[in-house]
Amino acid sequence: MEANRKWLAIPEEFRKKLIANVNCMNCGDVVTITDFIIVDHPAGVMLDGKCKNCGNKVVRVVEE
Ligand SMILES: [Zn+2]
Repeated sequence: MEANRKWLAIPEEFRKKLIANVNCMNCGDVVTITDFIIVDHPAGVMLDGKCKNCGNKVVRVVEE
């Protein structure tokens, strides 16, 4: 809940950029994360989801 609130506090334009700039180890490229949840992370919050291209698990830490 707290993590979700932190995430939503980020301006929408910036959130869109974060969603579209996630490293996928499998693709070896920057991809869009999909089907993600927001979880707490020591540095801020973390997006935990799947690569839009290959379905591999990807995460993205968003520092506060
Ligand atoms: Zn991928």
